[in-house]
Amino acid sequence: MNKKDFEHYQNQSDEADFALLKEEMIPFSVLASILQSPCTDIFTNHQSAIICHSSSPHPVWIWCKDVENRSDVDSIARCLKEAFPLESGYSYNIGYELLDRLQETDDYYKNITVSMGLLSYRLDEIQRINYPCGGGAGEAREEELETLCRIWHDSCLEMTGTEHTFEHCKERVRAHLENHTLFVWRDDVGEIAAITAKGRVGEYSKISGVYTLPDQRRKGYAINLVSHVAKTILDEGLIPILYTNADYPASNDCYKKIGFRQVGSLCTVRREIMDFTGLKCKLESLGYRVTCFDTAAEAAGYLDQQIDHKTVGFGGSVTLEQMKLYERLSRHNTVDWHQRIPEGMTSREVRMKANGAEIYVSSVNGLAETGEIINIDGNCNRVASIFYGHEKVYLIVGENKIAKDYDSALYRARNVASPLNAKRLGVKTPCAVKGDKCYNCNSPERLCRGLSVLWGPPMTGEFEVVLIHEKLGY
Ligand code: SF4
Repeated sequence: MNKKDFEHYQNQSDEADFALLKEEMIPFSVLASILQSPCTDIFTNHQSAIICHSSSPHPVWIWCKDVENRSDVDSIARCLKEAFPLESGYSYNIGYELLDRLQETDDYYKNITVSMGLLSYRLDEIQRINYPCGGGAGEAREEELETLCRIWHDSCLEMTGTEHTFEHCKERVRAHLENHTLFVWRDDVGEIAAITAKGRVGEYSKISGVYTLPDQRRKGYAINLVSHVAKTILDEGLIPILYTNADYPASNDCYKKIGFRQVGSLCTVRREIMDFTGLKCKLESLGYRVTCFDTAAEAAGYLDQQIDHKTVGFGGSVTLEQMKLYERLSRHNTVDWHQRIPEGMTSREVRMKANGAEIYVSSVNGLAETGEIINIDGNCNRVASIFYGHEKVYLIVGENKIAKDYDSALYRARNVASPLNAKRLGVKTPCAVKGDKCYNCNSPERLCRGLSVLWGPPMTGEFEVVLIHEKLGY
């Protein structure tokens, strides 16, 4: 596994690499503490890049000292793809700049979405807060073990979606009790209303797992508890740090009131897999054959097998370009595509040949979950060719083309696909300037001349819709 790029350790800690994170200890404090305990996998070059996975379902942590170092970014891109593939459900905790570089480096990373923004904070000087509430803060006690385990279980489930066993929770709570690192807010009658933990990472101490019981929220317990724990950390001569979810402005404001200031940001990214089940059923009920693929490369491989020794016509398409389908199919088929005009032929001649081919391949501008397939065209060779005249038509659909219903799919075709195509082609239309929406122009270079809607597969020829779990084309 990328031995020349990284050393790979399994089920062990890596204290040596801990020091590499010194300059970025606050945003990467979780990674630093993971490195200090046995991890499932660590890949490191011991200088400028670390990839570390503690255990599933937790995210893979990725640190890169210099995101402008192309060689390191390439190595990280290869390693992640091989060891922690997104299609296997792994998520990554990663800096935004490194994410940008990965997306520039490799199309594989284009279709990932940021599921959570992580803000990191440090506290140098504590502020007085004015949120009076009943009860008080203190260390959690051994006799509260059962209650603490139940709260620990519920907090993990609510905050991370992970359901731990009671034994696991007990082990974690016990470790904190032994280390005196678990704190609670007890209300007026001595019941636990909120909990949080702290853990040392070098010269810092990280406050984590801040959780208020559902029926005790909005009473000021959490802010008072965090303030109390931050003070105990400062009294130890350490610097309090914490992470927050960027989507919760209310809790971020609370931490700022205590005196925490934001010093970094990371994000959690994953590949959100769209469920094609309902759409596949709908299209099949209309009479289409439907095939589904995780990646464009897999779909291209499938089409390369299916289409052999045929004449093939392609419609104008960024999707087909991204799939490199012309290059694959033309090795064993005769493919006509006006985006690859052979010497001595005109664009019109190529389009006409494509129109008469045995097989026609096109992407679409919009596909409604209710089954309508929409295309907009300028020369209209594509919309005409889809409708009639071939043995078989393949319609290739990246998941970004799918919309809820006919109106949304039409809106997407007119206001997303067409303006972006106009921008790409550099035509003189108002939409090409910003690529933001359709202005229903009267420009001589207007691209939108014909609209086709398939309510179902035409009665002659076979029609196959190829659904791909990637964003492809416009
Ligand atoms: S009609 Fe004109 S403004 Fe609207 S998308 Fe087409 S080219 Fe752009």
